[in-house]
Amino acid sequence: MVDLESLKKRFLEKTRRSQIAFENAKSSIPGGVQGNIKFFSPYPLSFTTAEGAWMTDVDGNRYVDYLLSFGALMLGHGHQVVRQAIEEVWERYGTTSFGVPYDLELEMASTIQGLYPSIQAVRFTNSGLEATLLALRLGLAYTNKTHIAKFDGHYHGGHEQVLINTTLHGSPSKANDSFAPHADSLNLPPYYTDHTIVLPFNDLSRCDQILRKHRDEIGVVLLEPVQAGYIPPAPLFLKEIRKLTSELGIILIFDEVKTGFRVALGGAQQYYDVAPDLTALGKVLGGGFPIGAVGGRSDIMQLCSPQRSFDPSEVVFHSGTFNGNPMSLMAGLRTIQYLTRPGCFDQIVTTTNLLRHQIESLGQSHNLAIRTNGVGTIFNIEVAETSRPDSDTNFQASKFMREALDFALMYHGIFSKPFNRFSISAVHGYSEVQATLDAFDKSFSDISN
Ligand code: PLP
Repeated sequence: MVDLESLKKRFLEKTRRSQIAFENAKSSIPGGVQGNIKFFSPYPLSFTTAEGAWMTDVDGNRYVDYLLSFGALMLGHGHQVVRQAIEEVWERYGTTSFGVPYDLELEMASTIQGLYPSIQAVRFTNSGLEATLLALRLGLAYTNKTHIAKFDGHYHGGHEQVLINTTLHGSPSKANDSFAPHADSLNLPPYYTDHTIVLPFNDLSRCDQILRKHRDEIGVVLLEPVQAGYIPPAPLFLKEIRKLTSELGIILIFDEVKTGFRVALGGAQQYYDVAPDLTALGKVLGGGFPIGAVGGRSDIMQLCSPQRSFDPSEVVFHSGTFNGNPMSLMAGLRTIQYLTRPGCFDQIVTTTNLLRHQIESLGQSHNLAIRTNGVGTIFNIEVAETSRPDSDTNFQASKFMREALDFALMYHGIFSKPFNRFSISAVHGYSEVQATLDAFDKSFSDISN
């Protein structure tokens, strides 16, 4: 049996200053973090600097970073392209925020349209949260219906309407389980659970049944086309959901905040060749600065044009002081342009696949059952409790083993945050891959002993 406590203990001994930073912060900053997802027990690591694919914590420990600011940093930390983009903003505009229209907005809109043909018009926001909020508002206004349908275990940011079943609550094995909406935040007003229908990912026949039953109430279906950024849709699942929602007069929203510019440059919609009505983007789009965007069919998007009416009740409201600010747009635009250079994106996918393959082989050589799962430049790792199950269906992923692996990996200098997926960047090169495989080798030894 793996001794999780001693794996944790040796890591905690290496990170005493992070513990002190946490103790100092936690009464002023709940949990010591700027977002609940950023916490892990017994205390989150505190960092001082970052460069390229590396981060350094307050104890001076260096890590190859696979969290990459939750996937946002496709060019790693402090890339020259992003630094130059910021210089360019100063030189070209002399300000960090106009708050009113300027040329870069259209330049970025056209770039997005070029990569995402389903996007005929676009509005910028400051976060992915705001993007899914606006997308839902547009979809409900367009259909004039009252309910949204979302998938069990899908995360769309921290607003009331989507803080339901953000983690898995349904049991796919029970044929009649209703996947009852479950609030994932304290005292969420019952309005939201009452107006949400929960769907099972990759179970087309039950989605069909549920959507047909509630077709008169459901205005939008919102989903992560690749669940949690790394669990792929079943073959044809997205295409069938597309067909079904079109038939039932329901707006289909792809939340591509994680998958945009990561599963493919044109997101999961390009990879799986499915055009949603609306798309939410974020993360990579901002080149490391705060951003979100909603784009899609022109007839839906134009519902938020103030030209529709002087009467606010006839226009979908959308505003934000920093929407479309030059820092985020320029850093994002230059990042996307860099990624579209011949071979650049493919190289990141190749590195990702190489890492996945080597991690799985290393696991095997340690007699551990290891699986990786993912698409494009994101993957996650599962470790089974028993070594070498005799078939894939016997593979029982173990939370305990994963936690042991995470603490071993952090000890050996790999950071993705415990239980989190791995994101790869353009600056994860040969030496980072070697350092990573070396750390995996040692960590697998630790957890197989
Ligand atoms: N949607 C998805 C799929 C996400 O992964 C996230 C963030 O992780 C969001 C929305 C929210 O984005 P943000 O954190 O920028 O508000």
